[in-house]
Amino acid sequence: MTKPSPDDDNTRFEATRRRIAAAFGPDGLLAGAVAGFVPRDSQREFALAVYDTIADCGTLVAEAGTGTGKTFAYLVPALIAGGKLLISTGTKALQDQVFRKDLAALRAVLDPSIDIALLKGRQNYVCLQRLERTEREGQLPQRQDVMYLRAITRFAHTSASGDRAELGEVPETASIWPLVTSTRENCLGQQCPHFDECFVYKARRAAQAADVVVVNHHLFLADMALRDDAISEFLPTVDTIVLDEAHQLPKIAGDFFGTGFSLAQVGDLAVDARGVGLARAADGASWPALSQSLEQAVRVARLALSEAGLSAGMRVAVDRLTRRAQIGQALSGIDAAIAALAAAVAANSGRDAELDALGPRAAAVRAEVGSWVNALVQPTDTATEASDSDDEGTAAHDWVRWVNVSTHGAQFHATPLSPGETFARMRSQQTQAWILTSATLTLAGRFDRFVADVGLPQARTQRWNSPFDFARQALLYLPQLMPSPQADDFAEQVADSAWPVIAASGGRAFVLCTTLRAVDRVAARLRTRMQADSNELPLLVQGTATRRALLDEFRHAGNAVLVGSVSFWEGIDVRGEALSLVVIDKLPFAPPDDPVVEARIRRLRALGRNAFTEFQLPQAVTLLQQGVGRLIRDERDRGVLMILDDRLLTKSYGRTVLASLPPFARTRSEDEACAFFSRAAAAS
Ligand code: SF4
Repeated sequence: MTKPSPDDDNTRFEATRRRIAAAFGPDGLLAGAVAGFVPRDSQREFALAVYDTIADCGTLVAEAGTGTGKTFAYLVPALIAGGKLLISTGTKALQDQVFRKDLAALRAVLDPSIDIALLKGRQNYVCLQRLERTEREGQLPQRQDVMYLRAITRFAHTSASGDRAELGEVPETASIWPLVTSTRENCLGQQCPHFDECFVYKARRAAQAADVVVVNHHLFLADMALRDDAISEFLPTVDTIVLDEAHQLPKIAGDFFGTGFSLAQVGDLAVDARGVGLARAADGASWPALSQSLEQAVRVARLALSEAGLSAGMRVAVDRLTRRAQIGQALSGIDAAIAALAAAVAANSGRDAELDALGPRAAAVRAEVGSWVNALVQPTDTATEASDSDDEGTAAHDWVRWVNVSTHGAQFHATPLSPGETFARMRSQQTQAWILTSATLTLAGRFDRFVADVGLPQARTQRWNSPFDFARQALLYLPQLMPSPQADDFAEQVADSAWPVIAASGGRAFVLCTTLRAVDRVAARLRTRMQADSNELPLLVQGTATRRALLDEFRHAGNAVLVGSVSFWEGIDVRGEALSLVVIDKLPFAPPDDPVVEARIRRLRALGRNAFTEFQLPQAVTLLQQGVGRLIRDERDRGVLMILDDRLLTKSYGRTVLASLPPFARTRSEDEACAFFSRAAAAS
């Protein structure tokens, strides 16, 4: 066979480009696959840029404004180019949408034989081994778990996937889930008697065989960081990687490239040791006593944290902890109890695979606990630590150690302050094409910040504006005479200023606040105003029901007001008149006393850099862009965006923020804002 000449390659390349361009034409592939398809130059250009990147195995960082149709813009060229495709999304909602809707529709018209798979983290699948053990031991944390266990057992016998999302009758938060799902540490892998029918490994085998695999960033980055075998195993066979909702990568990478342990994890080890020890080697050690002493050590640690003034919801850097010696002593107690347990496991080595698996698990937790004991016993002047090398002995990192206290426990974290370096190294180890895309990657039109955060300054960058006519479809209302966001009664003033506009729009409004405290105060004042005006619209408040239930009720009501915090700023798609007003209380700067934020600011300053322009402002703008993006979701949408933070106009950085928002028409007049709704109704 003769080798294809460069001319042949070039001809094939140009022919494929023409085929991709034609797919986005008025009579093309997408016109037959997508209801209401409208040909757009930006979508076609984006698709061709994706194909060019695939052809030269490059890296493309692409911002495509809302409505560009970016999912099809990367799916079409990647599927036409052929080879294996891995797509990772930031949210489960987009993961489901890409897999069930967009990919399925495209496959139907392009090639029904394309094999597609959805892969989730292992905690999403029932673990047959742990389920069997839980049934055998019958020790359940709560009474209703008896009922849930029966439902999970029935489900495990009938389900093909074992994916817990398909079992609606057991709530996501039920305390039984950790007992019947696996972690990387407690999974027996090939030693497991259920390995052949295991849901986790079945899903992974399906992903390995598929042409297209859809995952999310949590799984993708955790797998890359921990070198678990879910994705790393087949990554070398992947030809194209698409990271959608890429604006979330720096934050998620920070979380996953870190290390740590939780008191719950230690408690689980105690429970598993008692169960497995008694079942497999009852005569081998006093398992209940060993477990009890570990559980007692966890209680002592919880008490030490509480005596140091830490309560649920607090995040505190190690250098801000009081009573460090006492906390360090409590963790030493955990270390000693794990050591005793590990010795008993070692003494029974070889008797049972499940018992043996406790050894490495205990060692891993001990290593983490030990490093915390050292940090607490030998205090440093700062929260950040410089490590000589990372786990591969290459680049230097700065880290921050911090504790996060929850209702029933605490997590001890060590978070890297420049996760971009790890991300860049990860990228450099892979040779395929990478496409990173989102609607919000730039600051005032520039990519510098994002590419620095993910360590890819050499990546090709390109940007396509939203096809929407923002100046006609939307109005940005910046009210006059707002007090400083630091004012004591700012939340009440937000509600008072927003209420006339909410009343004019007949509800249909999101009020997005930057803190949970502001949510409660704004909601309380709005309720008072509604009662005073005898105009009681349905008021839905974050925390009173699940996010999904609140959104369903919002869509159903048609005149509701939803008051929410950060979790409502992203990943929500309410189209049409149901959402006609978005109110934002203030610029969403991350709290500067958060341990990770504070440490990053301190580190940048120490390097002689400007922490505000390089870190705090870009982060706030990305979140603001996400919140603003809830308003106009298609060409027919109309609405008002109201931002009550006058720093947009009084501070010099306000210009950068405004330049980063879509080109809305703008007003400072309440009358004009209120009149927008009647004009929009007349126009539609
Ligand atoms: S292989 Fe791991 S996840 Fe699968 S059933 Fe066994 S222990 Fe559970």
